[in-house]
Amino acid sequence: MKVRFPPSPTGALHIGNARTALYNWLLARGSGGQLVLRIEDTDRERSTKENVDKIFESLEWLGIDWDEGPIFQTQNAERHAQVVQQLLDEGKAYRTTAGAEEVRAYKDANDNRGFRGADEGEGAVRLRMPDEGTTVVCDVIRGETAFENALLDDLVIARADGTPIYHLAVVVDDMDEGITHVVRGADHYSNTPKHVRIYEALGAEVPVYAHLPLLHGPDGKKLSKRHGAASVQDLRDSGYLREAVINYLALLGWGYDESTTFFTIPELQELFSLERVSKAPAVFDEQKLRWVNGRYLRGLPLDDLTARLEEFTGRTGLRDAVAITQDKMSTLDEFWPLAGSFFDGPFDDPAARQKFLSTPDHRDALQDAKGALEALPEPWTPENVEEALRAVVDRTERKPKQLFQPLRVALTGTTVSPGIFETVALLGRSEGLARVGDALDAEQAG
Ligand code: GLU
Repeated sequence: MKVRFPPSPTGALHIGNARTALYNWLLARGSGGQLVLRIEDTDRERSTKENVDKIFESLEWLGIDWDEGPIFQTQNAERHAQVVQQLLDEGKAYRTTAGAEEVRAYKDANDNRGFRGADEGEGAVRLRMPDEGTTVVCDVIRGETAFENALLDDLVIARADGTPIYHLAVVVDDMDEGITHVVRGADHYSNTPKHVRIYEALGAEVPVYAHLPLLHGPDGKKLSKRHGAASVQDLRDSGYLREAVINYLALLGWGYDESTTFFTIPELQELFSLERVSKAPAVFDEQKLRWVNGRYLRGLPLDDLTARLEEFTGRTGLRDAVAITQDKMSTLDEFWPLAGSFFDGPFDDPAARQKFLSTPDHRDALQDAKGALEALPEPWTPENVEEALRAVVDRTERKPKQLFQPLRVALTGTTVSPGIFETVALLGRSEGLARVGDALDAEQAG
């Protein structure tokens, strides 16, 4: 099996294309086959080096590697031109100046049949379509569909200036690279009869096709670059883990059975098959991805998660803070709002201060907490902190929250943090007491 992933570098790698890359990679890796990476850069204006780099970076982050390439499609231009000439020489193609208007007029006059032009020796190059019979597209996911040849327009394969059209380029490249299976998004399905006709004209074997279901957003609308389609880099920067993204993308249109949601990458490589890909559009739901990600994140060994967070935040020395926040996070970017105050001092959250530090009740509570913590003998552990603070709650007949929230805001500047006892313990005696003192002073002054 030889498959390919041929992105057009006209933007970042968004999730639809990432899924296509993943499915091809799983097929190659699961079958001992090969994956070719081809950069379809024939749109010279929109194909920038920056976009190519984004694609490489995204594939690398996902861990998707390839066996051949990257091949840049523009480098094959000479070969494409040669094939066009060959088809002209064989009389299978001809040149015509007919434009969209003439084609329309022809169809109107001919019962909407496919356009057939006369050879004028100049103009765009069109491949002749047969008048009889059908062109059958065999698709592993969609079954067999027959297209009436009489309805297909003679196909433009090169512009008047000789530059080949995408359909010609993609078929010639796939043929030359020996691609056995073309696995791509359903948006290319309607082009497939054209591609089959080009293979037939070249006397080449038609590959096996598989058109992957479209991706919809949770609102049921088609996902597109313009509508809600996140790029792989967006997902990475939002704190998703590579293995969670892979697992989730694999499930967008494929499933092994009804009940299994979590697959390791080796399992996916072993179990993935085109036969289990669905025809129905798949829904990309970021909430579900977040949930899957949370399961992966909370299951990581502490050292591994720490290393990822240190890379993600660009900070070091995070391990102890990670230990007390791991079970509260779903994505890496939730770490800093929970734990940043351990490193950079309390957050500036005026609403939290106003609510939990400004009334006499809250100030009394904070005083009581301060007294108990000052009296706490060594060691300064979460257990000992808990015992001391619970004793204050009992003695003063407060609800735990009435003591813990002002203390939390005094220590972290905000209302959401890891467990209060762990937070106090991690800050340490002198820093913890200093922050409580500062909070009391600040409120007195203010
Ligand atoms: N370059 C095309 C795209 O990015 C892929 C064409 C194909 O898979 O045949 O959509």
